[in-house]
Amino acid sequence: MFSAARSSLLRRTFTTHSVDGFTGAVGNTPLIYLKGLSERTGAHIYGKAEFQNPGGSVKDRAALGVVRDAEKRGLLKPGGTVVEGTAGNTGIGLAHVCRARGYKCVIFMPNTQSQEKIDLLRMLGAEVYPVPAVAYENPANYNHQARDFAKNLPNAIWTDQFDNTANANAHYESTGPEIWEQTKGEVDGFICATGTGGTLAGAGRYLHEKSRGKTQIWLADPPGSVLTSYVSSGGKLIERTGSSITEGIGQGRITNNLGTFVNQLSGAFTVDDTKSIEMVYDLLDTEGLYLGASSALNVVAAAELAVKLGKGSKIVTVLCDGAYRYQSRLFSKQWLKSKGLEDAIPAHLKKYAVL
Ligand code: PMP
Repeated sequence: MFSAARSSLLRRTFTTHSVDGFTGAVGNTPLIYLKGLSERTGAHIYGKAEFQNPGGSVKDRAALGVVRDAEKRGLLKPGGTVVEGTAGNTGIGLAHVCRARGYKCVIFMPNTQSQEKIDLLRMLGAEVYPVPAVAYENPANYNHQARDFAKNLPNAIWTDQFDNTANANAHYESTGPEIWEQTKGEVDGFICATGTGGTLAGAGRYLHEKSRGKTQIWLADPPGSVLTSYVSSGGKLIERTGSSITEGIGQGRITNNLGTFVNQLSGAFTVDDTKSIEMVYDLLDTEGLYLGASSALNVVAAAELAVKLGKGSKIVTVLCDGAYRYQSRLFSKQWLKSKGLEDAIPAHLKKYAVL
């Protein structure tokens, strides 16, 4: 059995050479064995430490992927402007890549996102437009505004992270192969939530193909997303209802990045906010990991998948980003109370809610 758990601090693999700037530091993240949860479930649960990317999230891979693709296709020229609609993390990745490669960066984001992400984007030199959070069908949706802005600006591109498959390809070419190597191909289940679908479909498709279908790929979903019901009903799209405090995940449609891969999924779970918040605190307390709510949701879902696949199964999920980006919310008693989530934190973990 492969086991990162047994490796000592000194045995961690380091690159023996320097890397080329910000973009060279994207990817090659560690796979973390989640000991407490593995003991509790009797399975082996691992989290891909995407929060260790240089821009702090899984979306650095997509940001680099879409920019490289646009450069290769001659769409993005020196001095050009990259425009994107994003919940924040893709924007942060793009803002870093743009600084590193000499492009301007313009970001449209729903005004429901955390202040930390808006501040960081501005500190990274991006021009940020927080816009009302309206449905995709509404022309004022942040994605459509980004598209229209780029259309009217010379030497600008809209990177279109939801439907530009350069996003999922980046995960097919990096995240998937890394997990395969880190697990020596012994992975029974891969599960994560979906915003654009790039991570799930890109890494998932690689693992599914490489294992010849032996690795099951599962979707994790927050309330307010339609994907669980889509998968469970064999392809029926229902109207979007409900909402979640998780940021960057949940989807109302089948994006190009999810594409037909959605039909290869073995199943899906919806995880409610109470469980995700509890896991944010639990991961901090038991693993020393300070992670955002989408990571926590992924870990809850990984534990549920472990129960389904049975004792001894090996499950990999994604630790998308750190809690630093949301701490004014996730660690604020008042904010949690305003969302009706004050009871989500078990009594012995309440000491961490210090804001
Ligand atoms: N977690 C967080 C915190 C994110 O920002 C995102 C992307 N919006 C995801 C998960 C989902 O990643 P993907 O777009 O690859 O589905």
